[in-house]
Amino acid sequence: MAALDATDFTALRHRMIEADLRGRGISDPRVLMAMAEVPREEFVPEALRDEAYDDRALPIGFHQTISQPFTVAFMLEALGLRSGDQVLEIGTGSGYAAAVMSQLVTTVHTVERIPELAQSAQRRLQRLGYRNVHVHVGDGSLGLAEYGPFDVIVVTAAAEVLPPEFAKQLADGGRMVLPLGDSYSQSLYRFTKDGERLVSEDLGGFMFVPLIGRHGRVR
Ligand code: SAM
Repeated sequence: MAALDATDFTALRHRMIEADLRGRGISDPRVLMAMAEVPREEFVPEALRDEAYDDRALPIGFHQTISQPFTVAFMLEALGLRSGDQVLEIGTGSGYAAAVMSQLVTTVHTVERIPELAQSAQRRLQRLGYRNVHVHVGDGSLGLAEYGPFDVIVVTAAAEVLPPEFAKQLADGGRMVLPLGDSYSQSLYRFTKDGERLVSEDLGGFMFVPLIGRHGRVR
């Protein structure tokens, strides 16, 4: 295969969609379309732009990462996003996943505990025109009760046990995807709310940074 120019981001994005996402089993056309539209190179540090379309997590400062493209696609596919959904994301990081979701749903509220990351994500999302994403600074392990209930909750940092507020803030019929486990072993879970019941499914092993907060790890 011919080498791609590291600055031809459109070609690199296309290769990511075909090889790393579709090629590894992601099939939701809406997720693939949204990830084909969001310029991931804008969400990574300047010095790492050439690596924006490598299928791995990259550092974004403050010991945090922008998640691997496959992981983002896998989580969004598992959520079955619909155009009318109100979404809560915990762990804004760079704002990349929020930007992808904003293409597919009505509103995304996203919470980040590190103010500097929240501010730069907010500025970036505004500059790029993602107007239906609202960035909040705070402890996302408490959810965001004042804007709930949410049709979808997605958590991009791992807690050891399910924070109780998430289930309360999920609408009936709502879907939630989050990693649970410690620094050595985590699984991604999907929870679906059915009246008072929360039905859980283990979607397999992944590794995330820890959720830090009242219902996460204590710093
Ligand atoms: N979704 C992000 C993106 O697209 O760049 C990747 C997020 S990164 C894997 C996880 C983020 O969760 C980090 O930015 C971290 O600071 C944040 N985080 C950890 N604990 C948190 C908490 N209690 N509330 C809000 N954010 C938290």
